Amino acid sequence: MAAYVNRSISMMAGDGPHNVAMNNGTMRVNVSNVDSPLQIFVRAKKKINDIFIEIDDYVKDAVTFIHAVSGDNGIATPQDITNVEAYVSKVQAIREVLKRDHMKVAFFGRTSNGKSTVINAMLHDKILPSGIGHTTNCFLQVEGSDTDEAFMKTEGSEEKLNVESVSQLGHALCTTRLKESSLVHVYWPRELCALLRDDVVLVDSPGVDVTPNLDEWIDKYCLDADVFVLVANAESTLMVTEKNFFHKVSTKISQPNIFILNNRWDASASEPEYLDQVRSQHANRCVDFLSRELRVCTPKEAEERIFFISAKEALLTRMREREKPVSSPILIYNTACDMKASKVEKQRILQEQLSSIEEQLTSITRQMKDKIGRMVESVEHKVSLTLSQEIRRLSALVDEYDTPFRTERGALEQYKRALHRHVEAGLGSRLKKRLSADIGHEMDEAQKEMADRMYNILPIHKRAAAASVIVPHQQPFEVLYRLNCDNLCADFQEDLSFRFSYGITALIQRFQGKNTNKIALKNPPQYTPIPPTIGPPAVAEVQRVSNGGVGVGPLSAEEWGMVSKFALSALTSQGTMGGLLLSGLLLKTVGWRVVVATGVVYGALYAYERLTWTAHAQERVFKRQYVAHAGKKLRLIVDLTSANCSHQVQQELSTLFARLCRLIDEATTEMDSELMEVRDAIKMLDDASTSAKKLRNKANYLCHELELFDDAFLKPN
Ligand code: GDP
Repeated sequence: MAAYVNRSISMMAGDGPHNVAMNNGTMRVNVSNVDSPLQIFVRAKKKINDIFIEIDDYVKDAVTFIHAVSGDNGIATPQDITNVEAYVSKVQAIREVLKRDHMKVAFFGRTSNGKSTVINAMLHDKILPSGIGHTTNCFLQVEGSDTDEAFMKTEGSEEKLNVESVSQLGHALCTTRLKESSLVHVYWPRELCALLRDDVVLVDSPGVDVTPNLDEWIDKYCLDADVFVLVANAESTLMVTEKNFFHKVSTKISQPNIFILNNRWDASASEPEYLDQVRSQHANRCVDFLSRELRVCTPKEAEERIFFISAKEALLTRMREREKPVSSPILIYNTACDMKASKVEKQRILQEQLSSIEEQLTSITRQMKDKIGRMVESVEHKVSLTLSQEIRRLSALVDEYDTPFRTERGALEQYKRALHRHVEAGLGSRLKKRLSADIGHEMDEAQKEMADRMYNILPIHKRAAAASVIVPHQQPFEVLYRLNCDNLCADFQEDLSFRFSYGITALIQRFQGKNTNKIALKNPPQYTPIPPTIGPPAVAEVQRVSNGGVGVGPLSAEEWGMVSKFALSALTSQGTMGGLLLSGLLLKTVGWRVVVATGVVYGALYAYERLTWTAHAQERVFKRQYVAHAGKKLRLIVDLTSANCSHQVQQELSTLFARLCRLIDEATTEMDSELMEVRDAIKMLDDASTSAKKLRNKANYLCHELELFDDAFLKPN
């Protein structure tokens, strides 16, 4: 066992396959994949335990046997029985020791020689607090914890105290007032340290110079230690206090395994001219101490138990080494592979998103085009229907206008202009009232649907940015009807001259009116509307085209006036003879009384009508004429107005759709450039992983070369 232990500790300064330690002032690198001595130690321990189980059974069998063959006629004497029974307890005691499945290494030395730093270097991490401010003030036993967490337990307590960092541990140790001989167990995750995985237990101690109770220490912590390490300071020589301690140890334990680490060798190495001299001086003294003073080994063995180290440097190097893999080719290769996988996935997602957007956009565009077309038609129909209805009730609207009517030229012109405005505003507000809410609602719905559908084809992470743009118009959509009555009815000419309803002209007109209507119905006039926005005169808006050539259409009012005048004059002047003849004929036929009575009635009717031809009556006639005129003109622009309104709707919806398309376009452009970036990144990662792979292979080859070199030249024998 001692041989195993000796070999173990010689490897302990570096427990991994890449072992870096300062020995004899030179860096030694061992690269090995074979079992570490500690693993051999563990296997040996298991084997010896198995053997001792059998020895135990054997001794028990021997006791039974010896009892069987003892007695009066027996072969065995009572002394034999006592001897054999004594083996039971001896084997038991050995088994107890062997049952410990760890190797305990205890570190001693004066305060600040670097014990904690040495242990940290062996563990490859700053686990124990070290430094002037954190001088170890009690025994600290570091062992492996099977969980991921680090914790500590003070002596006699099962409470797990959190230890997440060295500073916390140092703080915890300072705040917990501990006796110098008390023991604190520090459990550190095995995962983090190879030594701990191999069940090595490391014990740090307060300086041997701080206590007079060395005996108590030895009884408590040294009797079951497998290895003792004296951490000396290479800057000075071995001190009496250090020597005394090991003298005491060697009196209590036979042949303790003691190793001496001359620490802080870096400080001595700063004076290279004396390096060899100092080193051999220290080495001789240490060999002397182990072999001659303590007599725990031969001088030759002692030479192999003395090391010159810089724990601080070793710790720093190992901590750097731990970080090294971060930049190693293998890690780069793995990272590159991981990153590439995630980039390839991103590329796939982007491509899928882009083609899905394209597909959806095509289908939405088609649907929206149809929808806009349907809306335009519906608005056109609605406006046209409503405007026609409103034109039919134009007389009511005109009647509502009750500004005093005066027939003087100036006043009449003013009256007309105001009436134009009244009709325009009235019609506008009626149309608005009847149509706006309806069309506005339809527009809102259509815009919302459009925005929603476009919004939904965007990938989720692009929606937030789009949301602010897609907000539909802030003010409700309003159709502008543009009924410019001023222009439209600019050619309206009223006729307010008195006309007796039973005058010859009127009668002829009435009679002719019926026929005219018939003719007019047969030959309706054709009008080509021109948009009222083009400007005055409104008369120009209407081009009358007679259908069927000259003379077939109805006669105008002026033409009829001329006809009636001609008839009258025929009766009065030119036809005096004829008139006399006609009067004589009438007198002869109906009698003079009837003629006189008819004349009186006719005269009375005339007088009545002449008297009632007041301003009010004139207003009524004016309004009737106006309604007829305006109605006719407005009817001409029904189609145009409704087309204008539907055009507005089309404009509004198309603009929004174009805006949304631009938004989608921006998003896809962004995604396209993202895709390009991802492709570049994949290419870069491909190159990186290829290079890293080459380096990894080269590193493996070099490791192998080093192993061969190690086997050939560095391994003993
Ligand atoms: P301990 O009291 O024996 O546990 O000593 P520590 O490990 O706490 O170390 C005491 C001080 O010595 C700390 O400041 C360490 O950084 C420093 N120290 C430890 N080892 C070395 C070494 O090899 N070289 C140098 N230069 N300083 C060291």
